[in-house]
Amino acid sequence: MNTNYNCIQILKLIKTNLEDNIEWGEENVYGDMNIVQNQDSMLTELKQKISKCRKCNLGNERINIVFGVGNSNASLMLIGEAPGYEEDHQGEPFVGKAGQLLTKIINAIGYNRQDIYITNIVKCHPMKNIINCNKRDNNRPPTIYEINHCMQYLEKQIDIIKPKIIVTLGSSATKGLLNIDVNISIVRGTIMKYKNIIVIPTYHPAALLRNNNLKKYVWADMKQIRKYLLL
Ligand code: SF4
Repeated sequence: MNTNYNCIQILKLIKTNLEDNIEWGEENVYGDMNIVQNQDSMLTELKQKISKCRKCNLGNERINIVFGVGNSNASLMLIGEAPGYEEDHQGEPFVGKAGQLLTKIINAIGYNRQDIYITNIVKCHPMKNIINCNKRDNNRPPTIYEINHCMQYLEKQIDIIKPKIIVTLGSSATKGLLNIDVNISIVRGTIMKYKNIIVIPTYHPAALLRNNNLKKYVWADMKQIRKYLLL
């Protein structure tokens, strides 16, 4: 008799727990997973669409489209200038020396590359001289024409990911995203807005490789970025 009573009580407890999970936990968890799956598939669809893009001259010069990598539901989105030689060959942003430094910077504020989303203001490799396409130091910043033609893809990426904070790396990314003519040394670390999203510009890691003195400014900006992420 006692054993039967205990079994019934245990079954009632399990039933209550399952109902609680459905009401408070699992529905929410599955809801979030659905959002992430949706964001993943929307990004995949956009990437496929862009893969054939020839809207500007860079489309005829690239090896690979460099779309972006990372968490489709990221709170932090980093936007660089454009793919370089390594990125063009591998189809992934920030994989060269500047990319390795960027990974260290991200790790220093407690994040991994997989936690955040990384892309560029243009998706194809701008070269100084397309005849020298196999030379590593043949990169150049994108022109306003190239940025304007590519911007709609970045806008869609931002609409899908909905980051809490965007960090623009360098002048081209900051000018392109915010549509303003600025000097990165003046606006770095300033809180700006793109639609309703906080934008904090800082130096491009390639600039740090050329000038070690800039590291202290980037570190100050990254501490500020971490503070806003934790709010
Ligand atoms: S840079 Fe952008 S707009 Fe130009 S061809 Fe590549 S994807 Fe298209």
